[in-house]
Order: sequence, then C-alpha cells, then structure tokens
Amino acid sequence: MVEISEVKTSTAARDRAAAHTHIKGLGLDDEGIAKSIDSGFIGQQSAREACGVVVDMIKAKKFSGKAVLLAGAPGTGKTALALAVSQELGPKVPFCPIVGSEVYSAEVKKTEALMENFRRAIGIRIKETKEVYEGEVTEMTPEETENPLGGYGKTISHVVVGLKTAKGTKQLRLDPSIYESIQKEKISVGDVVYIEANTGSVKRVGRSDVYATEFDLEAEEYVPLPKGEVHKKKEIVQDVTLHDLDVANARPQGGQDIMSMMGQLLKPKKTEITEKLRSEINKVVQKYIDQGIAELIPGVLFIDEVHMLDLECFTYLNRALESSISPVVILATNRGMTTVRGSDGVVSAHGVPPDLVDRLLIIRTLPYSQDETKAIIESRASIEGSPLEADALDRLAVIGVETSLRYALQLLAPSFILTDANGRSVISVQDLEEAQDLFLDASRSLKTVQGDSSYLV
Ligand code: ATP
Repeated sequence: MVEISEVKTSTAARDRAAAHTHIKGLGLDDEGIAKSIDSGFIGQQSAREACGVVVDMIKAKKFSGKAVLLAGAPGTGKTALALAVSQELGPKVPFCPIVGSEVYSAEVKKTEALMENFRRAIGIRIKETKEVYEGEVTEMTPEETENPLGGYGKTISHVVVGLKTAKGTKQLRLDPSIYESIQKEKISVGDVVYIEANTGSVKRVGRSDVYATEFDLEAEEYVPLPKGEVHKKKEIVQDVTLHDLDVANARPQGGQDIMSMMGQLLKPKKTEITEKLRSEINKVVQKYIDQGIAELIPGVLFIDEVHMLDLECFTYLNRALESSISPVVILATNRGMTTVRGSDGVVSAHGVPPDLVDRLLIIRTLPYSQDETKAIIESRASIEGSPLEADALDRLAVIGVETSLRYALQLLAPSFILTDANGRSVISVQDLEEAQDLFLDASRSLKTVQGDSSYLV
C-alpha cells in the first residue's frame, strides 16, 4: 500500500548521497562504543564515537548554538559521518549536503543560498487524519514506457480506480489534472490508493497528493461519492522540508497535499521565494505545530570545504545557529591554519573565524589503513555490482592508500565497464590498470599538467 511521500532533495544532493548508500548509521553499541564494522561503517572508530556523543547532545537538547567541525583528509568519511548522524536522529530526518563553494553564483546572493540550504535541512512532519475510501487502480492508459534517453516516462490519458462500496465496486475515472502526480508518484495498475472523502467535486487520492473526479463510468456522469460509506480513518503522514514549502508557495501548481494546502493559504501567486514569503510560511507552520498537526524535524546541514565560505557567510552562519529552528550544522574541512576568505588576512584554525570556532565541537577523521581501505572498497564494490578478483582488490586498496579512497572508489565503475567490454564479469588487475591509465588521480594529473613527463608513461 502506498501513501507517504518522501522529502525531496535536490538532484545534486541526491547524487552526492548516492555514494553513501551503504551507510546506515554510526554503528555504535549501547554504550556508545563503535564496533569495528557496523552499519556500513568500517574503522574511524573514535570519530564515530564522538559523533555518537553529538547525537546524544542533540537528543538531550543540549546542542543549540553549537556546530560540529569534521577535520580530516579527503575521503576519510566526513560526509559519511554527517549522513550517519542524520540517520541516528531518526527516520526521514533531512540530510542536506553542500560544498562551501556552492554558495557563490551569479544569480543568487550567497547568504540567500545558505538560507535556502538551511531550509532544505529543516523537516516538517504533518500528520492528518482523513476519512478515506480505498480503491485500486484498475486501468491506466498508456502504461509506463521505457524512455530511450534514460529513465521511463508515461503519457497518461486515462486512469480508473475501482472503489469498494457496500454495493460492490464503483469504477471512478480520475481527473486529468492529477496525471502528473500519478506519474511522479509512480502509481500504476494494481496499486491501492486512498480517495479522501471530502466535499466538492474534487477528491484527494491516496499517496495523498492526487485528485479524483467523481466520474461514474457506468452512468457516464459525474456523481458524488457514496455518503456514509467511508471505509476508514487514515493517518496520512507527509514529510516535507521548509524549502519544499517555500517552492510550492512561490510557484503554486497543486501537487503535494500539504503544499497545495499551504499554497491555498497564502493566496497570491508569487514567483519568487522572498523573505516575506518565508516568514509567512514560518507563521503557518508554527500554527500547525501549535495545533499539534505538524512537528518540526531539524535535520543535518553538512557544509564540506567550509574554508571556502567568506566572512559574510560565517557571520550569517553564526546568526543562523542562534535561531530557534536551526538544523544541526556539520562543517568539514581538510585545512589547518589558513586565511579566512574576505577577511583582510585574518588567519584562523581551518579558515573559520575565531567567534565561530568557539562554537564548534571539532572531531578529527584519520586516514585509513590498507586493510580498512580494502574493506571499504569491497563493500562499495558489492553494492555497485562491480566484483573484483582478489589481487585486483589488493591492488585497488594500495591505490586507495597511495592516492585517496575517493579515487580508488571512483575507479570501480570505469574498471567494470572495461571488464564488461573485455567480455568478463569480475574486475581483474589488468582492467584496473587500464582504468588507471584513462583516469588520473589528482597528484598524477597535477604533475602531468606541470610537465613531469615521468607520469605520462
Ligand atoms: P571529501 O573531503 O573529499 O568530501 P569525505 O571525507 O567527505 O571526503 P566521504 O565522501 O565520506 O569522505 O568518503 C568517501 C567514500 O568512502 C564514500 O563513498 C563513503 O561512504 C566511503 N567511506 C568513507 N569512510 C568510510 C568508512 N569508515 N566506512 C565505510 N565507508 C566509508
């Protein structure tokens, strides 16, 4: 049975998170001690334990005004740790990963970009009890088709739901305005959906964001849904972020249940997310919270390469951390003492101004041993479906230690393509070497550009 919609994340954030699908939490025991391999995590025990303490502080509401800084070399699991913190905070807690340099763009002010990401990291869980009819999608024309350019598409022209009533099954045709949502929600024939027993000619259908018109196929006319035959009261849970609400209200277009509701609340058809719109949304959300309909779910905002932020951004960050609805902010860097950008030469730890450093709990991540690197590569290889021969795995572990874990993991996919092209199904040392010739790691690439020809052979 399908009914709950996901918190949407930006495509970039989703792609970034895809490299961490094996991470399911911090992998700590009841005493907060890290098991050497658990929840997809391998090694990095003291950083995992420190993150566990942070999770406890957050749960005990002793973390406000503070932030975490993960300091360590690239590929030492900083992003993975931040993701695991969000997972430990509970199911469907938003995780919004960005890179410091992302806030600079020609179109959007940097503090605006930061604010947007703060709101992506704040979840709202809305629980509504609705009276619903239960029905099953019986017809859909045409069915899903494979899109030659990737993914799949369907151009729906007709959807029928069989609604169970006391007098048997009533076939209802759904309103064309909902086809897009049906497509988005990947609803197909055989799925059970809910139709909200509402007044008016438009009904809301399960997964809670589609509408049905009361078109009786047999009678070939619009008829009201049978009164007094509500099948069940159903608690509909929606997880959205403040940013989702901003977007939905800036460009109202129906769609998600709560969003269209909020869209209706804030009537004007705005096209831009403004300060005013955000504060109106905050007010409405606050009202729902007060009424017990909504619950605030602060998530994790992860800012990698935080030394790329400038003084103005840091000032903004400092202020945002004070806000009553701040997400948990986890910063990361691989820099030691360095100049704070935009500061007239102030040198500070990690390129973060001292007043922000004062708020930070700093956790170090350490480089992995060869065995740990090997275990991480092996686990990723099995998830990605790119198996390696034993000596290829050993070789890749050495590459990981000598260059970076990230580079070693990145070699998996191209190596497997070469394996496949060579008509085999398990990556060999030769495939790895070919992939290594094709794709340079950062230091070889740098040396090549600088003209050190020894790296070209
Ligand atoms: P960067 O500084 O380049 O952003 P990072 O420190 O954030 O790197 P990650 O992106 O977290 O590093 O790690 C690189 C890859 O290795 C990811 O796929 C991550 O999930 C995986 N990984 C890192 N550390 C571990 C670990 N201890 N156990 C399992 N997988 C790990």
